[in-house]
Amino acid sequence: MNDRPSRRWRPTPLISAALILHPGALAACLSWPQSWPWALGSVVISHLALTAAGLWPRSRLLGPNLTRLPPRSIARGEIALTIDDGPEPAVTPAVLDLLDRHGARASFFCIGERAAAYPDLIAEIVRRGHAVENHSHHHRHHFSLFGPRRIHRELAEAQAQIGVLAGSPPHFFRAPAGLRNPFLEPVLAGLGLQLASWTRRGFDTRESRPEKVLARLTRNLAAGDILLLHDGHCARTTEKRRVILEVLPPLLDAIRAAGLRPVTLRQALQ
Ligand SMILES: [Zn+2]
Repeated sequence: MNDRPSRRWRPTPLISAALILHPGALAACLSWPQSWPWALGSVVISHLALTAAGLWPRSRLLGPNLTRLPPRSIARGEIALTIDDGPEPAVTPAVLDLLDRHGARASFFCIGERAAAYPDLIAEIVRRGHAVENHSHHHRHHFSLFGPRRIHRELAEAQAQIGVLAGSPPHFFRAPAGLRNPFLEPVLAGLGLQLASWTRRGFDTRESRPEKVLARLTRNLAAGDILLLHDGHCARTTEKRRVILEVLPPLLDAIRAAGLRPVTLRQALQ
């Protein structure tokens, strides 16, 4: 189920330059064969620039990318917690209880095939007032190497699956590990999705010390921040506790002490 209205894809200046450069380089080679080293060099540089832009999760060089909440939301003193890679039966219910205890709302970027495996958890996330967003169907680590058709399949499958289970389709997409390529934005536009990355992340999939994760997330904590945590693929402390469950209580306390209100991305953009 995806009733999201599609939007028009507008290439960024970097994409437009690459689209002009390729036929331009070919035309230069055909009309002036000695120019081939220059033509080839400029094509290689453009590919390197596109690749670098895709490896930088917070970049806007390949298309729109939400890294902070908009001014209206900042004026309301809002902050967004985003929780990736679930649902995870051993973690998500405890995360929901902690959020409830603090009256916090969050956006869960769920993996489509995990949503299909744990439909009750998706229903529970929604029932508690949170939003379920699209984090691809399989969460492949080489997602940024996919062509347009495979990217579309990955997103559309998760969109349909989550849409049915959550009762409404996701509004936002986050790429696995935040890595992407120039084919992603046209697919997002077609599906009516918006790319969302983050302001700060705690690296809680590999950092086993909760205090380190907390320090990264709360550095310069301010209205408009989008924070990234993980309920799936979450690291464990030396006592084998999931890092997110150790980080959330002091993080939610710090957010409250700063006078901020955790809302979903959808609420923030209303
Ligand atoms: Zn992920």
